[in-house]
Amino acid sequence: MNLVLLGAPGAGKGTVAQELVAEFGVAHISTGDLLRAAVKGGTELGIQAKKYMDAGELVPDQLVIDLVKERLAADDAQQGFILDGFPRNTAQAVTLDSKLSAMGREIDCALLVDVAPEVIIDRLSSRRTCRACGYTGTAADATCPKCAGEMYQRDDDKPETIKNRLDVYEKSTSPLVDYYRGQGLLKSVNGDQARETVYGDVKEALGL
Ligand code: AMP
Repeated sequence: MNLVLLGAPGAGKGTVAQELVAEFGVAHISTGDLLRAAVKGGTELGIQAKKYMDAGELVPDQLVIDLVKERLAADDAQQGFILDGFPRNTAQAVTLDSKLSAMGREIDCALLVDVAPEVIIDRLSSRRTCRACGYTGTAADATCPKCAGEMYQRDDDKPETIKNRLDVYEKSTSPLVDYYRGQGLLKSVNGDQARETVYGDVKEALGL
């Protein structure tokens, strides 16, 4: 399974990825998670990325592409990968295609988790993330339902940043739906349903 997940911020890509990883053991490559780890670790990359992330803007392509290249070469990505949050624009998608082909690999499917824009703002505003295991929950979760860790609100899930992230998605990322449709790789599920229903639809779409 070499999968690209597409969808607006808050559509549920991370949740779908976590479920697929738990069931099928493929590598989860989330550029957002990798960048947040770099920010937390205070690395040079983290310092450079933080200002873009705080503003809800895309981090410059080259920084993100280098991260993904390194991650794709790691042992755990050799049996398959799920790219979550990458590519985010056409330049990244074109670069990904050429890097993969140089490695003798290719994407099997680009899966769009499709959610109506009006649902997204509510979801992002109430999204909470576990500091310990990264589980994605809601404001109703006092502690993480999986590991009892502390739930927090990501800085970029605050109202002032959400609008810009959605604008960036519309302008830069949504054209990828047509990019992958043109390659005959696009599949789509309705992400505006209960978590378990979405996951069932994902497995059906992927023939799993
Ligand atoms: P995410 O967790 O995928 O919503 O990503 C959080 C933030 O990290 C985004 O708003 C961007 O600032 C940055 N980011 C994540 N993935 C990428 C990417 N592929 N290209 C550029 N910036 C990214």
